[in-house]
Amino acid sequence: MPELPEVQTVVSDLNKKIKGDTITGFWSDWPKAIKNLTLEKFKKLIIGRKILGARRLGKNLFIDLSGGKTLYIHLKMTGHLLVKAQANFQFPISNFQSISNDKISNSKKHDYFADKVNSYIHHIWYLTDSKLRMKCESTKENSNGRVRSAQFACKTLEFSDVRKFAKIVLDDTEKIKNLKEIKALGVDAMSPEFTFKKFEEILGYPHPLPRRQAGSPLPKRARGIFNKPIGIVLMDQSLIAGIGNIYRSEILYDAGIDPRRLVIEIRDREIKELYKSIKKILKKAIKMRGTSDSDYRDTAGAPGNFHKILKVYKKAGQKCQRCDTIIKRITMAQRSVFYCSSCQK
Ligand SMILES: [Zn+2]
Repeated sequence: MPELPEVQTVVSDLNKKIKGDTITGFWSDWPKAIKNLTLEKFKKLIIGRKILGARRLGKNLFIDLSGGKTLYIHLKMTGHLLVKAQANFQFPISNFQSISNDKISNSKKHDYFADKVNSYIHHIWYLTDSKLRMKCESTKENSNGRVRSAQFACKTLEFSDVRKFAKIVLDDTEKIKNLKEIKALGVDAMSPEFTFKKFEEILGYPHPLPRRQAGSPLPKRARGIFNKPIGIVLMDQSLIAGIGNIYRSEILYDAGIDPRRLVIEIRDREIKELYKSIKKILKKAIKMRGTSDSDYRDTAGAPGNFHKILKVYKKAGQKCQRCDTIIKRITMAQRSVFYCSSCQK
């Protein structure tokens, strides 16, 4: 599932590629993904609106539209958004360079859109580009509702999602933050509000309980967060939003902390290390445009690059790069965690 760095990559791409564009049409063969409106109502409400910009909170993506509406998208397991230039239309040179200036990947010759992983298109937004002042005629529909006239649409925002778990919600911008699932989110891991002090607060520190050695009985007063393994706490979106399965393992390896350690067992200096590792790993992953563990792709259809420098995630059975110990895989809350038993204490 895309985590904070992957969703941030999509947000940055959308702000470069479609900000300022106007929605001229919409097509879907899976309207069930639209959670709060019928397809007809959804279309009626978005056509003609301008895209003001994209943003995110944790793994949740928002596209703000003119007239006080916001599209809220959760990519879930396999969803990803692609921005394509259509017939007779090319991105302005400057815009295109900014999109593909990622030196690490994106061999320009490869047609990523042709990759199988990008072929499960279930929703299409048809857009016109305001920057070019190009006059695009309105889209026309054939009997099955699919917009036929690609020559009239300058660009498309296409949603590929093989598992079809992704969700789309359109609501008033003001109301989005009050949706149950958005309200339930904790602080975003890359936001300025997620300070070291905030992290300590989340972990219940400073707390009055004596430090305890691993394996010794848990004091009766230790409840709630103290009693939880740090590997579970990092993934809890209601505490910190944005960290999922991939980055939890990488962050804990970077900090040298065993994922099974209970919060109460973690020392002050280790909390500091952990905080630094959260910021460091996520920042690096954003810079490398995320990890394409399975279906995640950027808006050009290209995979992220962070998988090239993964240290433990999905490395079970391989040697630790630091100490040659074999990386282990365990399960926590039905999800795999990877760690080095020698580097992580
Ligand atoms: Zn090691």
